[in-house]
Amino acid sequence: MTDTTINTYSRLGISYKSVEKVMEAEKELTSVFKKIEEVEYINQLKVLSAFQNEGIALRHFSPTTGYGYDDIGRDTLDKVFACSLDANDAIVRPQIANGTQAIFLALAGLLEPGDVMLSISGKPYDTLEKAIGIRGNEYSSLKRLGIRYEQIDLLPDGKIDINKVIETVSAIKPKVAYVQRSRGYSWRNSLLPKEDMEEVFKEIHSISDQTIIVVDNCYGEFTRVEEPTTVGADIQIGSLIKNPGGGIAPSGGYIAGKEEFIERICQRLTSPGTGREVGAYPASYRPFYQGLFMAPSVTASSLKTAALFAKLFENLGLETMPASDAARSDIVQALRFKTAQELITFCQSIQKASPVDSFAVPMPWDMPGYTNQVIMASGSFVQGSSIELSADAPIKEPYTAYVQGSLTYAHGRLGAMIALDAINSF
Ligand SMILES: *Cc1c(COP(=O)(O)O)cnc(C)c1O
Repeated sequence: MTDTTINTYSRLGISYKSVEKVMEAEKELTSVFKKIEEVEYINQLKVLSAFQNEGIALRHFSPTTGYGYDDIGRDTLDKVFACSLDANDAIVRPQIANGTQAIFLALAGLLEPGDVMLSISGKPYDTLEKAIGIRGNEYSSLKRLGIRYEQIDLLPDGKIDINKVIETVSAIKPKVAYVQRSRGYSWRNSLLPKEDMEEVFKEIHSISDQTIIVVDNCYGEFTRVEEPTTVGADIQIGSLIKNPGGGIAPSGGYIAGKEEFIERICQRLTSPGTGREVGAYPASYRPFYQGLFMAPSVTASSLKTAALFAKLFENLGLETMPASDAARSDIVQALRFKTAQELITFCQSIQKASPVDSFAVPMPWDMPGYTNQVIMASGSFVQGSSIELSADAPIKEPYTAYVQGSLTYAHGRLGAMIALDAINSF
């Protein structure tokens, strides 16, 4: 490095040593980065062709009011999302509050009293426990609507227990077989559509043609060339303040999949009989289109950032999940620390590296929907957006931080340098 470069990094208080560590790690990651770029190229192509097939023009960005009948921006956005995700239909709505609501909406739309929901990837994401009724007894939970919940845990190696799935699906013919693709807040691998889902989905459909396969796809979009819907899932669901919003969408969620199931879910979306015909959005749809267009690139930046964090912490002798060279099916990188203080310091360093609220110091708090205290670092343009560089950690042993996102790789690597400096102070 030249003197001027060293001076530039010192503007952010980054040490020469951490810059060097990152540059060394990047050299070791050349082939990993190349693979990530190959996936990005294919996904950008898919998204571009979806835009062109629908003839996207300025008129699709226009706001609507009142009932929102004939909202061409809304209806066409549905089609562009469906096509980009290898699905034949989708609903994409700014008004869906978060991923949890999108998932609950899909489940509540598909399941009826007396039906069984079978999770085949272990316990669902924390915020869904109350919605399903695994924990608590909230009004309108699936449990109180008369829906039974069953679960098959993942095998010790993190794969779906296909034999148990075949046995259970044959015995109880569940209405919904549910899969969570991402690790979420668990120490396990994300499930790869081609390698970990396709065969299982084929088996389920051949045993029980009444079983609808529903995938929580949060954090997974555009990390691989295939989506769950590409390999036989009937429905997949995600949040627009994660991958498919490209960091540009200000809110929302999507549900994509087979038309007949999407139509059913639409009856829940507004009201039975009205379905998807109504629902105005009085602001521009442009950020949702633009965000989807950016999503393959932003997801690739996030994947590179995740691999860099893994490599750096491997080099420090810490446990990481996944390993820096693993095939990734989500943007989340789990890092294990030795003490709660290191974990907290790490998360605070991510906040310090942010473009927004960099001066704030995040502290553990009782976040609604979560069992333990959680610390969240997110100095993002969109509140709580986790496609932007962010870190979360439940404060419990073993001390594991989940770091994800980065709108650009150039920012992700600065975050890594700042985190290294913070950790090296121990
Ligand atoms: C983010 C996420 C959800 C939904 O969480 P929200 O905070 O409600 O958007 C569900 N499942 C997984 C795996 C997630 O990562």
